[in-house]
Amino acid sequence: MNIVSKSTVKKTTATALQPDYVATTGTVVNTGTTIQVNTSGNLKIGTTPYKLLQYHFHTPSEEAINGVHYDANVHLVHQDAKGRLAVIGVNFKKGAANPYLASFWNKLPAKKGASIGVNLPSLKELLPASLEYYSYAGSLTTPPCTEGVRFYILKQPVSISAEQLATFQKLFPMNARPLQPLNERVIKSSN
Ligand SMILES: [Zn+2]
Repeated sequence: MNIVSKSTVKKTTATALQPDYVATTGTVVNTGTTIQVNTSGNLKIGTTPYKLLQYHFHTPSEEAINGVHYDANVHLVHQDAKGRLAVIGVNFKKGAANPYLASFWNKLPAKKGASIGVNLPSLKELLPASLEYYSYAGSLTTPPCTEGVRFYILKQPVSISAEQLATFQKLFPMNARPLQPLNERVIKSSN
């Protein structure tokens, strides 16, 4: 998805993302197409509670903003009580080492299907200071590519070091799908 900021629609009443993530455990899996971390966490979007199911990584970022891709991104996949999915996308820009990633980045399983259990800091440490976002309806970009997913792409990126990026790209040099056409979809902006 290419998000063109000048053609987004400002929401009159923005629905706030309210993460309530805490330190927890997770299973880091090499799925053959990405690194996925199966873990737990709580998030409210407006008044609706969601549970975190998993998060996974893409390089370069699957979403482009004004035609520009970031170096990588993570998709945090959540589900509410009715089974509806909400994905928060956080973009990574090359810079300082990312302390959250550093907690398990030297344990990424190299073989497809391999996994390892890890202790994880609170995902709040991965999120940028600002939770302003672009939002649109889409589908999961990794199998089973479920339709009817709401995406919240955070505007502010976080850092990843060149070395951390290289560690991931050694396993998956390019695992973002091509940009999808916008079609009739409207992209909303939280501010
Ligand atoms: Zn994804």
